Amino acid sequence: MEQELLDFFTEDVLQTMREEHTFREMRLITSPEAGHVTLSCGEQSLDSASKAHKVLMLASNSYLDLCNEPALKRAAADAVLSWGTGSGGARLTTGNKSPHEFLEQTIAEFKGDEAAITFATGYMANVGTLSALCCPQLKRDGSVSECVVFSDELNHASIIDGIKLSKAKCFVYKHNNVPDLERCIKEACKMTEPFRKRLLIVSDGVFSMDGDLARLPELQKIAKKYGALLMIDEAHATGVVGKTGRGLVEFFRDKGEPCEHADVTVGTLSKAVGCEGGFVTGKRQLIDFLRNKARSFIFTTSMSPAMAQAAANNIRYMDEHPERVQKLKKNVQFFCGALKKYGVKIAGHTQNLDFLPQSAIIPIVIGDEQAALNASKILLERGVLIPAIRYPTVAKGEARLRASLMASHSREDLEFAAKMIAEVLG
Ligand SMILES: *Cc1c(COP(=O)(O)O)cnc(C)c1O
Repeated sequence: MEQELLDFFTEDVLQTMREEHTFREMRLITSPEAGHVTLSCGEQSLDSASKAHKVLMLASNSYLDLCNEPALKRAAADAVLSWGTGSGGARLTTGNKSPHEFLEQTIAEFKGDEAAITFATGYMANVGTLSALCCPQLKRDGSVSECVVFSDELNHASIIDGIKLSKAKCFVYKHNNVPDLERCIKEACKMTEPFRKRLLIVSDGVFSMDGDLARLPELQKIAKKYGALLMIDEAHATGVVGKTGRGLVEFFRDKGEPCEHADVTVGTLSKAVGCEGGFVTGKRQLIDFLRNKARSFIFTTSMSPAMAQAAANNIRYMDEHPERVQKLKKNVQFFCGALKKYGVKIAGHTQNLDFLPQSAIIPIVIGDEQAALNASKILLERGVLIPAIRYPTVAKGEARLRASLMASHSREDLEFAAKMIAEVLG
């Protein structure tokens, strides 16, 4: 009976996934995250030493390779010796230790924003922030205010989940298409409602499967025009985009396109920063609101104080070593050049073949699911870990190889990878 019940809950779904080749299994890596890693080769674990397979890592989010930086590892170990292994409580009960506040101050300073709040993960930052900001509100005059959200069609899953949790009405606009966003806003404003609606526009800063950037200055103009709050998720931008890795504002200002910080900026400590945790920066009033209303902040144990200290250390390191960010950019340029030399087309959703990624994510669109999987499998056999991304992460028929680079990759690494990719696709 128990087996039958479990089957009833899971078996059809599992069966369908297996048939559609979307059932996932985890790859096991037996070395720390770095430019090269060791893979365990499946079942023969008794014999694992001889089966270990060293590969070039072109799939990491640890863009600056800070996870594995000796001085930072030592500082993190010291933080554990000072603060122990866990925080013992939620931030609002007993879990608010000095490193947490120090980290938030460090983030706000690095981003050049007024204040910051940290969450256990970036996922929780998005879910908590959107559900708190966008749920229906009882105003002090007794009226009820609804929120309408406008969300880019390629936004990250944690944004989508946050919107769902808020129960707000949501318009999904075409990817990075500001006229379509405006069309949606006009449509929403036409709907007759007795009370003034709150409007919120939300977009990834760097789109995680395409590597392209949100058009922050234009989004800001639209937000201002319609009185909407603007929220940007800089998970893949922090430490990567802008001369010193401060994100989109730095990037656009350098290009001579004036812009300000979004009203709400989300980020993660788990990618370029090389630790774990998520954050939001903005005005102090926003941070006060989230501290009191974001349920994924309130009802969970805070990150360990040692991790908070480590994240603060890593951010300070990033700040003091802008050459790391520069090296990453040079690697992106070099790798794209090498792909071009070998006739491999990089293409984001923009389908613009001359497009030079401003992030460290380089999509090579293949289209067919099975072809992308095969290419990834052969590349792995030849020593290059570059994942195939396919439905449901990207649309059906838009399967791709998604390379992400690290500052620590050498020219030889990247040249080799480009050549292998060309051979496998050619
Ligand atoms: C990775 C990612 C997140 C989640 O961050 P975690 O710290 O890994 O939970 C949120 N948004 C975007 C756009 C991301 O790429």
